[in-house]
Amino acid sequence: MNLLDVKDKVLVTGGTGMVGVALQKILPHATYVGSKYDLTKLDRTLELFDEVKPEYVIHLAAKVSGMKGNMDALGTHYTENVYMNTNVLEASRLHNITKVLSVLSTCVYPEFAKLPYVEEDIHKGMPHYTNMGYGFSKRMLDVQARAYRDQYGSNFVNIIPNNLFGENDNFHLVESHVIPSVIRKVYEAKRNNTNITLWGDGSPRREFTYSNDLAEIIVYMFNNYDEADPINVGNPGEHTIKELCEMVCEFLEYDNEITWDTSVSNGQPRKPSDNTKFLELGWDNDRYTDFRTALKNTCDWFVENYENVRGVK
Ligand code: NDP
Repeated sequence: MNLLDVKDKVLVTGGTGMVGVALQKILPHATYVGSKYDLTKLDRTLELFDEVKPEYVIHLAAKVSGMKGNMDALGTHYTENVYMNTNVLEASRLHNITKVLSVLSTCVYPEFAKLPYVEEDIHKGMPHYTNMGYGFSKRMLDVQARAYRDQYGSNFVNIIPNNLFGENDNFHLVESHVIPSVIRKVYEAKRNNTNITLWGDGSPRREFTYSNDLAEIIVYMFNNYDEADPINVGNPGEHTIKELCEMVCEFLEYDNEITWDTSVSNGQPRKPSDNTKFLELGWDNDRYTDFRTALKNTCDWFVENYENVRGVK
């Protein structure tokens, strides 16, 4: 039985974002809200819960940015996310919500954690300075969920995806993550017949999970996991930034020059995460969409929707 099939009982915060829109396709009966209810304010959060009266909550709302956006506003990423998370879990406690699933990020892991990342290491050192505010705010979700479980018996669970991408991502030139940023730069250079410059030397390796896969994973974990420990759930396949750029250039038929600006930091060379615990819960690596297919879908969607894409319009 899918717990989340119940009509009018599931509230999804961040329901207008990339993952929220992916979830809408497989969970049409839930209530999806964006920032109309400002979750950094406890009174607005309680108004939302009073109005929807949910039994289950999927908490996706967050201030999310790529490396530059995070570095330029470490404080905002910390404070807004801590307020949102604190208010959503507190409102869930006050409303006796049966279960809350929240989404962390591999940014929670310490800069010098051993690789691949394992869940036990989350709090063992400072996150990388480039996303220190966001990383710590996500760690606090783990702290609050454990504390509330201990004191109030709350069934609050947390999952840890790696980098996400897909349709309805944010394609803003400063605030976006690497995949939407590359897609946009390549597409616009193709339209204008110009060359492009990308940050770093293209050598860092990253794991990427398709937003539609994360939507499936959220439903899966909601139905199959009730423990305090957060679980890595991302696709463990690694790709260099250069590799993904080459794929985007192929899909968008761009063959002008790409310059790698090595004066800009590469960031961490690798950030692999170990999804063994997730596999032990019954997930299978074959259930992740093949990276090339997911990237092609995202490029096609971007081209079709260019004028109205978030961050472009
Ligand atoms: P998006 O940036 O696409 O969406 C963010 C959502 O949060 C939107 O619905 C937005 O509403 C809402 N929101 C932002 N600020 C507020 C606020 N003050 N009050 C209420 N709602 C607010 O995020 P994603 O879909 O990419 O991410 C989903 C989750 O996954 C997040 O928790 C994120 O931290 C996590 N994650 C994301 C990764 C990624 O690479 N994108 C990687 C790992 C984890 P509105 O549309 O109205 O602005």
